[in-house]
Amino acid sequence: MYLYVDYDACQHEPHCKAADCCPTGAIMYNEDARRVNVNKDLCNFCGECVKTCPYAVFHIVENEVEARRLDEKLRQTRNTFEYYLKKFFQVTKNIIPYRELEGYLDDFPGIKDIAVLLVDDELKIFIVPENGFDKIKFLEFANKLAEQPIPANNVILLEQIPRTKTGKIHFSQILGQT
Ligand code: SF4
Ligand code: SF4
Repeated sequence: MYLYVDYDACQHEPHCKAADCCPTGAIMYNEDARRVNVNKDLCNFCGECVKTCPYAVFHIVENEVEARRLDEKLRQTRNTFEYYLKKFFQVTKNIIPYRELEGYLDDFPGIKDIAVLLVDDELKIFIVPENGFDKIKFLEFANKLAEQPIPANNVILLEQIPRTKTGKIHFSQILGQT
């Protein structure tokens, strides 16, 4: 048996439900790194985290070969524009996951800029496609993901950051620092 952990799907919540249900303490939220870590050596494959985590972070598979296959499959589904939008919308609460942003634009030639938005008093990042930022389209998309519909006047476009030549974007640019 092998525990595959899809860290890319994890929301890294301080109150991780999977950590709470794990009987062996294998899943922990690291306060300093602000992320969830899993010590696979402690895992007894009880499957509680698989049932509990709402983001399908955990998968119990037969062996490492199966885990690599699953990883490949998940990578393919991740490599889509929609996946990134979903991920940013869900992950970006009060903090900007700058490590996630660095370099990702290189994989998506169709993406123009990044929009920094204030949505219900929370800072969010939205990837802007070639045809430009469209608030109505953003709301349609966001409301599919949100539990409560977001009124249009609760979305304020703070900044639209242009894509650089290399496609990379950095945290300092987002905060307006040099
Ligand atoms: S419940 Fe799942 S998605 Fe949320 S922090 Fe824990 S492992 Fe990550
Ligand atoms: S399978 Fe069970 S022991 Fe292993 S990480 Fe998940 S909850 Fe913890």
